[in-house]
Amino acid sequence: MLDTRRLNSKDKVIVTAALTGAVTTKKDNANLPTQPEEICKSALECYAAGAAVVHIHVRDEEDGASMRYDRFEAAVSRIRETGCPVLLNLTSSGGQGFGWEERIKPFKALKPELASFDAGTMNWLNTVVFMNEPGFLELCGKEMIEAGVKPEIEIFDMGMLNTAKYYLKKGILKAPAHFQLCLGAPGGMEATTENLLYLVNHLPEDCTWSAFGIGKGANEVMMAALALGGNIRVGLEDNVYYNAGIKAESNAQFVERVKRIAAELGKSLATPEEAREILGIK
Ligand code: ZN
Repeated sequence: MLDTRRLNSKDKVIVTAALTGAVTTKKDNANLPTQPEEICKSALECYAAGAAVVHIHVRDEEDGASMRYDRFEAAVSRIRETGCPVLLNLTSSGGQGFGWEERIKPFKALKPELASFDAGTMNWLNTVVFMNEPGFLELCGKEMIEAGVKPEIEIFDMGMLNTAKYYLKKGILKAPAHFQLCLGAPGGMEATTENLLYLVNHLPEDCTWSAFGIGKGANEVMMAALALGGNIRVGLEDNVYYNAGIKAESNAQFVERVKRIAAELGKSLATPEEAREILGIK
């Protein structure tokens, strides 16, 4: 049987803070950062709490989902100007219905360390089609290689993992790949330990991986992923509640919880420098 850790560190946990996302609003949680200065502030707080990576979406002036380049540029430049070493992971989806070029431009121009690569199309939240057609994925993979941006391959179901393995074989994605196992999104696999273990057991041998759960399975998936040697994603993109019925105070609050639980397992949170090493990012 393969080691469930794969290439993950034995004693370091990379925490990615997913700050904003495309779905949740300030009505769901008033602490959601949506504007560039709020996103920057939240990124710095998460770094201070122990996050090595921040996953960034942007919104327009009215807080609507957006892939506008000027908004990405504003958020990214603010963070970089502070000198904070946190690794940046930009979304390449940003919501629904955006064109190929506008999905690719932010990572292509701003060259973050990582960018999301959603390895397949799905019925998103039982409302719309989250389009990731083959032509787009081929273009996206090629552009990431050219820009020197590491894909964070988002997996919502087993079919997407098979698709990612196909692109690894075809050279659209390069090994060692980094996977984000996303559980609990309606339309994808449910956030359970059983589903997490199933996906982990089917990952390629030479990869790193991280996981998160959305909704009521969030804490279960976080603790199961820690037990299996995984890295962890947390944040208001995925959960507006800290615990059942209790809204989160900030993105950093989620990071602090992972730090405490990891410590009980004899692990500490990876610094951005250590995360680079683990993920093979120069
Ligand atoms: Zn995202």
